[in-house]
Amino acid sequence: MRKKIIAGNWKMNKTPSEAVALINELKPLVQNEDVDVVFCVPAISIVPAMEAAKGTNINIGAENMYFEESGAYTGEIAPNMLTDVGVKYVIIGHSERREYFAETDETVNKKVLKAFEHGITPIICCGETLEQREQGIAVDFIRQQIKIAFLNVTADQAKEAVIAYEPIWAIGTGKTATSDQAEEICAAIRECIKEVYDEATAEAIRIQYGGSMNAGNAAELLAKPDIDGGLVGGASLKPDFGKIVNYNK
Ligand code: 13P
Repeated sequence: MRKKIIAGNWKMNKTPSEAVALINELKPLVQNEDVDVVFCVPAISIVPAMEAAKGTNINIGAENMYFEESGAYTGEIAPNMLTDVGVKYVIIGHSERREYFAETDETVNKKVLKAFEHGITPIICCGETLEQREQGIAVDFIRQQIKIAFLNVTADQAKEAVIAYEPIWAIGTGKTATSDQAEEICAAIRECIKEVYDEATAEAIRIQYGGSMNAGNAAELLAKPDIDGGLVGGASLKPDFGKIVNYNK
């Protein structure tokens, strides 16, 4: 049985002091031993967030990192800067990074390999545009994203990875994929992993859904056999996040 993993993606929200206040507000609400809980916060808030989450079930993650070890890369965060402060998860290749910061399937692959090298679990994002969905090429497009993201990743590493399926048309729009639409793609992703690796790897890997997940729709999405969690944007900044984490209570 795969353990569910519910992660908040705070995006570019909350100052460090606001982050501490929000964690203090949410920590009693997000206790659920059936679920791995992760808050991915802006880099500047990682250290204070770690401090605020100490002794709780909340894992603090990063929203991005670079694929080089160190050097002349102004403004970037190296993997060992994350591990030095105890970060265990990092979001890689979010559609906003692909759209606004020129990330590609190739840079995603480099970051995924680097995260594994440092023992950080990547939350690898994929997802189609509305246009691609309407053209009927969503599955083909996502299979390509997945195959490139996992180039040179071993089966043992892939088993530990988290994939987030986030249809771009559902992000921040209030327009959620139906549970059937989300399940169809998550199942296709698992099938792709099975083809690239094997059945055991496909059964082990955790696949999240993301895109306007909220307290009202989480339980139905998370009941689907191939949806192992959520990557939550807007609703992760509110007490609603506690309801999503406790979707099974
Ligand atoms: P929303 O939940 O705000 O739609 O954002 C989803 C997302 O992009 C999480 O990474």
